[in-house]
Amino acid sequence: MPLSRRSFLKLAGAAATAAFLSKPLSARAYDDGFPQHGVYYIRAIDPRFGTLLSVDDGYSQTFSIIAKIIERRKCPIAFFPMGRMLHILADYEGENILEKLVENGCIIGNHSYSHPYFTHLDDKQIAEELLNWEKALADAMGTDYLRMMKDRFPYFRIPFGAGKNTARVHRVVTDLGYKFIDWTWDEGAILTDYHAIDQPDKALKEPLFSQIVNAIKQSTESLRRGDIALMHSNWWDAYAFETLCEKAQKLGLADPETALAGTFALLNRMEARLP
Ligand SMILES: [Zn+2]
Repeated sequence: MPLSRRSFLKLAGAAATAAFLSKPLSARAYDDGFPQHGVYYIRAIDPRFGTLLSVDDGYSQTFSIIAKIIERRKCPIAFFPMGRMLHILADYEGENILEKLVENGCIIGNHSYSHPYFTHLDDKQIAEELLNWEKALADAMGTDYLRMMKDRFPYFRIPFGAGKNTARVHRVVTDLGYKFIDWTWDEGAILTDYHAIDQPDKALKEPLFSQIVNAIKQSTESLRRGDIALMHSNWWDAYAFETLCEKAQKLGLADPETALAGTFALLNRMEARLP
């Protein structure tokens, strides 16, 4: 019987885990629940950890709004900034935003240095994108932090999702010690519906701006435990972020490091049980 992601999540509930582990995973579970080309690709977390929030890119003006909400609400995220933003975030209006995030339980993951389409790059260029990000993180946070990150939470989110089904990209990224993190909930469809990305000059002005922000806020109603939510550091998401935090906190907000490590451990246990 094919196993959908939703049924995987249901089955991964505390009581059902033992029953699930006693059954072999179907081919569908492999496609849907990972590993592809022998590589785990996490789309969801074990729902016992709650709901995981993540933010990508890290444009400083908008991200500084998000960072203040994270601090005030104690709402930790997995943050995937571009490498080229790291030095700006490390010294933004006299403050190291990255250090503040870490103090508030956030983890920082790799999102490449310059956010290219990985499918347009050769293997060497892909490796350079990841390694230049690491150098920028070490400059911003110190080599000890980079070492800890690579050791405890070596996660990577691929720019535009481009290459997420490509064996060559998987190999280069995993050879550098990274694990892929995808997502199950995001605001992208709303931004596309409103042409917010194509026509930001219109979408950043009222009344459209408030309409988009409200639509994103409303869409947080569909968030569930086990979801990995993705937002970006743009103006619409910055203004909707507090609502997302509030919703995730009601559901049970996941501690990013624990939830991701715990979910990978669960997958490894399932893998060990495969015939
Ligand atoms: Zn991105």
